[in-house]
Amino acid sequence: NNEEAAAKAAAVNADSGAPTIFDKIINKEIPSSIVYEDGKVLAFRDINPQAPVHVLVIPKFRDGLTDLGKADGRHEEILGQLLHAAKIVAEKEGILDGFRVVINSGPSACQSVYHLHLHVLGGRQMNWPPG
Ligand code: 5GP
Repeated sequence: NNEEAAAKAAAVNADSGAPTIFDKIINKEIPSSIVYEDGKVLAFRDINPQAPVHVLVIPKFRDGLTDLGKADGRHEEILGQLLHAAKIVAEKEGILDGFRVVINSGPSACQSVYHLHLHVLGGRQMNWPPG
């Protein structure tokens, strides 16, 4: 099924360190709907939204951060900036009353793009636990 195929594709792509579709989005080679941008961070709407608000927050410089599982001490500053950007996005989108921030890290978490990204989700009642 689709989920298995996606998981397999993700497993193949994991760790390769190759450029991803997000590099093209950062370089504006393919269009995206940008919600927030600064020198270090870009936030844009997910192409396949899972909630009325679904924004991806990514570092502009991946710097080895294919996934959260690759983070180390030198990434502390950008990790903080990403989380702060997620809050700015939630504020801009009017969902500060309740929103969710998700990071899928690795094949078992169904990560599909190996450029670290935070999902900011909201605009509806979010349920727990996630799948
Ligand atoms: P992951 O599954 O790796 O946690 O999340 C990757 C996300 O990137 C998915 O939610 C997917 O919909 C989104 N995505 C993949 N390709 C594109 C694209 O070209 N443009 C945008 N805006 N989102 C994308």
